[in-house]
Amino acid sequence: MERIHLASPHMSTEGYEKQYVQQAFETNWIAPLGENVDSFENELAEMVGTSHATALSSGTAAIHLALKAVGVGKGDIVFAQTLTFSATVNPIFYQHATPVFIDSEIGSWNMDPNKLREAFKLYKPKAVIAVHLYGLSAKIDEIKAICEENNVPLIEDAAESLGTIYKGQWTGTYGDYGIFSFNGNKIITTSGGGMLVSQNKDGINKARFWATQARENALHYQHEDIGYNYRLSNVLAGIGRGQLKVLEDRVEKKRRIFEKYVEAFKDIEEISFIKETSEERANYWLSAILIDSDTITPNVIFEALNAENIESRPIWKPMHMQPVFNKYDVIGGDVSASYFKKGLCLPSDTKMTLHEQDRVISIIKSFWN
Ligand SMILES: *Cc1c(COP(=O)(O)O)cnc(C)c1O
Repeated sequence: MERIHLASPHMSTEGYEKQYVQQAFETNWIAPLGENVDSFENELAEMVGTSHATALSSGTAAIHLALKAVGVGKGDIVFAQTLTFSATVNPIFYQHATPVFIDSEIGSWNMDPNKLREAFKLYKPKAVIAVHLYGLSAKIDEIKAICEENNVPLIEDAAESLGTIYKGQWTGTYGDYGIFSFNGNKIITTSGGGMLVSQNKDGINKARFWATQARENALHYQHEDIGYNYRLSNVLAGIGRGQLKVLEDRVEKKRRIFEKYVEAFKDIEEISFIKETSEERANYWLSAILIDSDTITPNVIFEALNAENIESRPIWKPMHMQPVFNKYDVIGGDVSASYFKKGLCLPSDTKMTLHEQDRVISIIKSFWN
């Protein structure tokens, strides 16, 4: 049996990506930057509804530069969602700052606005990083309002939520800065890459400058600041331009995958889902279930699927439970811990056939027969 993946790269059947990459070859714009990079930035910015964007080597690099852009430095505190991938949090340490973790709300994977309010009574942070996990939107308008009340910038980690629209506005565009990832298993991919977006032109220009080794505008190589090599190559940006053309198709397919799981498990009381609210259109990057059972654990199901060459994955282990981060404060923590204990991400590969998804479903269902 062919392996069924959690989420794997899915190039367009039309071959858009190849055309843009081909153009890069023909113009010998293999070296960094060039037309594909500029166009990828402009096309993505227009699609999500923001004014400025800079293409970077990863989503992690984008978070790092967002933290720098809002002035996070040594000894500062940054509030960060605890239920996330470590890439949300690692850049806080690149800047020699300290995280305070914020628990998720019940009913969404994401930052609990009430816990955020609590945290503001205890600390004065330099920035807040909220995440839209698995493509479901956080209560980002409420989070933004709390940040504004406290005069603290908001960074939106939308690495998993490109295509998710909350109250008519794309996730990633609510914060002072938003970031997207084009890593291999994200909803669209450049094999590796990221994007930093903002309405703040100076901020994006500054980030682009840092990402290009902080080269001053001088004929000789003049440096007055520490820089990074964080730009996306023109070849990979070509893949990204092609992938943008099929983003909407990918979102549609992810949503159908999710709906099929919901329908399949509707009579199993012990399986539940975290679903989009009426105020959003989620991209459902990964379909995740919560299992309320003492005997049938996520791990048991993981093993059964694995034995059939089917990939699944536990929910992200909360950052406050990670050995490398567990000495830092957490506001709450039980909600994300329980999601971690009960949750499992199911195959959500947009190349998965209906028949393949039926196989996944029947293996899971067999536990309740
Ligand atoms: C993938 C991901 C990132 C990092 O993106 P990279 O492009 O892999 O560096 C950051 N945050 C979250 C929540 C992610 O899932």
